[in-house]
Amino acid sequence: MTTPDTQTATEAQRRRTFAIIAHPDAGKTTLTEQLLLLGGAIQIAGAVRAKGERRRTRSDWMKIEQDRGISVATSVMTFEYAGQIFNLLDTPGHEDFSEDTYRTLSAVDAAVMVIDAAKGIEAQTRKLFEVCRLRDIPIVTFINKMDREAREPLELLDEIEKTLALDVTPATWPIGSGRQFSGVYDRQDATLRLLTEGGERDEKLEGPEDPRIDGLLPHGQGDLLREGIEVASMYNDFALDSFREGHLTPIYFGSALRGFGVKHLLDGLARYAPPPSARRADVRVVEPEEEKLSGFVFKIQANTDLNHRDRVAFLRICSGKLRKGARLKQVRTGKSIPVNAPLFFFAKERQVAEEAWPGDVVGIANHGVLRIGDTLTDGEELNFRGVPSFAPEILRRIRLDDPMLAKKLRKALDQLADEGVVQVFRPMDGSQPVVGVVGQLQLDVLSSRIQAEYGVQVGFEATSWSTMRWIATEDRVALDRFLRTAPSQMAEDHDNEPVAFFNSEWGRKRSEEEWPQLKFLALREQH
Ligand code: GDP
Repeated sequence: MTTPDTQTATEAQRRRTFAIIAHPDAGKTTLTEQLLLLGGAIQIAGAVRAKGERRRTRSDWMKIEQDRGISVATSVMTFEYAGQIFNLLDTPGHEDFSEDTYRTLSAVDAAVMVIDAAKGIEAQTRKLFEVCRLRDIPIVTFINKMDREAREPLELLDEIEKTLALDVTPATWPIGSGRQFSGVYDRQDATLRLLTEGGERDEKLEGPEDPRIDGLLPHGQGDLLREGIEVASMYNDFALDSFREGHLTPIYFGSALRGFGVKHLLDGLARYAPPPSARRADVRVVEPEEEKLSGFVFKIQANTDLNHRDRVAFLRICSGKLRKGARLKQVRTGKSIPVNAPLFFFAKERQVAEEAWPGDVVGIANHGVLRIGDTLTDGEELNFRGVPSFAPEILRRIRLDDPMLAKKLRKALDQLADEGVVQVFRPMDGSQPVVGVVGQLQLDVLSSRIQAEYGVQVGFEATSWSTMRWIATEDRVALDRFLRTAPSQMAEDHDNEPVAFFNSEWGRKRSEEEWPQLKFLALREQH
């Protein structure tokens, strides 16, 4: 069952699967583009942007939803660099879709954290970082927009260290910022990497004391740099173990817009980011080099073909080799799933993959059989954990204008819940379903899709609930008693797990106190 395979081991070793986390506007799209340019996956800057992935206003989103598939192509971007295969998994920028982002982070082995040099750590950076921390994902930091007025490097590093409780080690040190930005000093190679019109010019130094520094930099910047190098030396040295355990982040400074510093970052990733590692499943730990295939679905995207209601499930491969034409076992149902045309995603197009390896993400077209959190294997009964659901704070009751369409609505909600578009809860008193979302925008997408794809008109009614919790316990009797206390406030989620709604924090706390036999969970790992 756990026989290792040499080719699988070799291929897995070459994979680097990562995501970029950033607050909107920090420069994620610009950086992505520059990475793809370096990896030869696109030829001109602007190609990613043109796909319309960025800055979606509400109407943009609807249009994109209607144009199905536009963002599919940019969901996973594969490129080769320094002999390694990089899989960059895109995360939606809009904060209403942060759940999607959280799920994507369950499928990566490393993350790049982009920080705006003038703004430092922002709300969304922090939230996403916390998710990475839950899984000890190693993080490489890129401090972007150095070509603009920036905060002092020392201040930025301190902020990262303090607000995120994360050790930092400057891999490069910036020389000036804004108009005075001259480039960086690479501490590892004792090299000045100077910003030029056309890109970069490197000057290898004898060391930080090298007298050539003054001649190579504009007037006054020599002292500035020497001072900087001294400050930088007070930080921890880079240590691979601490980095891979998620305790230490190397920091690169640059300007994605000018394409500067991106290569340093990518070299850093190539050097330090881990290949796929062992993953914990319910029954055992799975090693990537195992001969047998295993993987899990972390994302579902409604696809190009409206008529066939085609959907693509994104499978992160954890072990083994995926061959075109393989049949995989869907562990949840025991069904056999044919993988006749696994899709590989490149920045520009999708291609049918002949084979894929641990760390890779392939798209599997299906008609609603696969759902988020599903484990697929070569036959073994095992389930990967860790695709999270978060307790939503916006809870709305569905209003169905035409009761004849109840069955259709049920199907629509089931399928959209499979996709992770919304969370659906069915109240135990038999009343209309309740949907839970992170942001208002999700409700708009939901109603427009139910209308367009299932021909059902729905509305949403406010509820008095401000939060919900999953209820976990071994004590069935206590659970039954609790559920009977207020059936209209109790429901089942998409997997028939019990949940309770609450009007206030106070109400929730009171239940927790009164029912010590029950656990009220704000986060649930799907299975
Ligand atoms: P995202 O929302 O994180 O994807 O950010 P974008 O990549 O779309 O960038 C947001 C804005 O910042 C855009 O106007 C970019 O042109 C600009 N920008 C991104 N990187 C840089 C940079 O290094 N320097 C400067 N001056 N502007 C940048």
